[in-house]
This record gives sequence, C-alpha cells and structure tokens, in this order.
Amino acid sequence: MKKVLCSLFGHHFTISKRVTSHINEYACVHCGKQVTTDVSGNLSLLTPELREINNTLEYIYQKKHTVGAHQQQVA
Ligand SMILES: [Zn+2]
Repeated sequence: MKKVLCSLFGHHFTISKRVTSHINEYACVHCGKQVTTDVSGNLSLLTPELREINNTLEYIYQKKHTVGAHQQQVA
C-alpha cells in the first residue's frame, strides 16, 4: 500500500492546479490526497466547497489578468 509511505514520511504534494498567484491545488503523488491553499495560507483538505471557491477565484483571477490588463479603467 502506497499510503503507508505517507503515514511514514508524510504526503508528497505536487501542484495539480494553479488557481491564483497565491493559491494552488495540490495532489499527493503517492495516495492522491488533494489539498488546497485556503484564504489564510494554510493547506486544507480540498473539499467540494473549496474546489468551488477555487473555481470562482480562478475565474476572477484570469478575467482580471487577461482582460483589460493594459487598459485604463474607464468609468
Ligand atoms: Zn499521500
């Protein structure tokens, strides 16, 4: 069982998805456990709720950084 490795040595997380410059989703290469950076910068278990929040953050982040990045805001 690969999970034994995790209980002995801890999880080996690699970034599975970039959400924003501060928030990533990670997956353990051994057992597949998924975590994410939460709002306070700690790693939390990637629940469906957090995944939903990340999707929203990613959408806002990409929108902010792809559209109008070089334009002045016009009121
Ligand atoms: Zn693991």
